[in-house]
Amino acid sequence: AIDPNFAESRERSSVSDWLDIDADYDVWGEVDQPDRLGIHGTHVAVDFDICDGSGPCLENCPVDVFEWTETPGHPTSERKAAPVNESQCIDCMLCVDICPVDAIDVDGS
Ligand code: SF4
Repeated sequence: AIDPNFAESRERSSVSDWLDIDADYDVWGEVDQPDRLGIHGTHVAVDFDICDGSGPCLENCPVDVFEWTETPGHPTSERKAAPVNESQCIDCMLCVDICPVDAIDVDGS
């Protein structure tokens, strides 16, 4: 499961340093492509190394926080749900509840 204390335990960088995503949010280390991709986002945080690319968060978020991004060569899945619109989150917690692999943390939940 995602570590809810990631902001204390990990180094911060920007998604633009690592992946070609049309958004600007923080990534919490360690990143070593293609195997290790870090935790993406802060208010809505997705552990890309846990995300299995199945997408119930992306399909069910009422305000469309997530978009797919391709992650070729990652051992768990080759697409990830990137929290590109995390500032729109209304804290409904649906994504946290339905993620099958417990990859999402919303506001330190
Ligand atoms: Fe979307 Fe709700 Fe998850 Fe926020 S908590 S990202 S609004 S599903």
